[in-house]
Amino acid sequence: MPVPARDRATCSRCRKAAVYLQRATGRHLCAGHLGEEVEARVRNTLADDGISLAGSRVAVALSGGKDSTVLLSLLHGIARETRDLDLVAVTVDEGISGYREETLRAAAAVTARFRIPHRTASFAELFGESLDRRVEGQESRACSLCGILRRKALAVLAREEGADRIATGHNLDDEAQSVLMNWLRGDRDRILRDPRHHDGGEFMGRCKPLRRIPEKEVALYGMIRGLFSPMPECPYRQTALRGEARAMLNAVEQRYPGTLERVVEGQCRLARMAAGRILSPPGRCERCGDPASGRICQACRVLEGELFRTARRP
Ligand code: SF4
Ligand code: ZN
Repeated sequence: MPVPARDRATCSRCRKAAVYLQRATGRHLCAGHLGEEVEARVRNTLADDGISLAGSRVAVALSGGKDSTVLLSLLHGIARETRDLDLVAVTVDEGISGYREETLRAAAAVTARFRIPHRTASFAELFGESLDRRVEGQESRACSLCGILRRKALAVLAREEGADRIATGHNLDDEAQSVLMNWLRGDRDRILRDPRHHDGGEFMGRCKPLRRIPEKEVALYGMIRGLFSPMPECPYRQTALRGEARAMLNAVEQRYPGTLERVVEGQCRLARMAAGRILSPPGRCERCGDPASGRICQACRVLEGELFRTARRP
C-alpha cells in the first residue's frame, strides 16, 4: 500500500497537504500534482518509446485489478485528445476461483463507466481447461503457465477485435522484477530482449505505458481518481519466483531509493546494444504463426502437453 506522507508535509510544487513522499526524488506531492505527474509520465513514456497511438485501435489488457484499471483510465484520457484512437478492453478469465469473479465484475463496471467496448474470454473456452484445473499438483508453476497462456489469449482476442496493438498494465515494479528473474534464471534471450515492446514488426505491436510508474504511485493514482476499491489477491501470487524477486528488490529500493528505475533503465540500454547484433528477432511458430524464439511457441508447447505436463485428476 502507498506510504502516506507525514501529516505536516506539504506538496513540493504547491502549498497543499502532501499525500505521497516520492522517495526516489525526495519530493512530497499533493493529490493533484501526483495525478498530473503520473499522466505526464505516461505520455512521455509513449513518446520516448516511439509510440504514436493516433489512428490506431488499441486492445487494453484489462484484468480488473488496479494496474490495468488505471491503464484503461489513462488511455481513455489520452483517447479524448488523440485523433482516431480507438480503444477496446480485452479481459481473460483464467479460471482462478475465489479471485477472478470479483475482478471480472470490476472490469465490466469500469468499461461501462468509460463506455469502452469490452470483450472477455476464458481459458476454458479458448484452451479447454481453467488455470485451476491445469495447474493441479504443480501450483508453484501457476504464474509461468498463466503468463504464457494469458499472453496467447490476449493476442487471440486482440486479433479478433481488429486491434493494431496491445497495451498492458505492467508497472515499474513488475518490470524490475522481470529483469531480476531473467538474471536469476540465466535466461540469456530474455536478459537481452527489449522490455519496451514498442514495435511488433510483422507481429502485433505492444506497449507498456505504465512501465516507469512505481506500483505505489499507480495504486495511489487509482485511489485519488476513485477507480477501484481493494481487490482480493490471486491465491497463486506468492508461490512464484516473482514473489522472491519482489521481496529482494523492495528491500534494496527501501535502502537505495531509485533502484527499480535504474534496474529497468539498465536493461533497456543493454537491449539496445544487443538489438540486431546478439539477439535475432523472433520467428513464427510453426503451429500457430505467433512470435516464437524457437520453432514452436511456448503456448503451443503448453497446449500440446510438451511443457508443464502434469498428473490429472481422474
Ligand atoms: Fe496468473 Fe500468477 Fe497473476 Fe495469478 S498471480 S493471475 S497465477 S500470473
Ligand atoms: Zn504457437
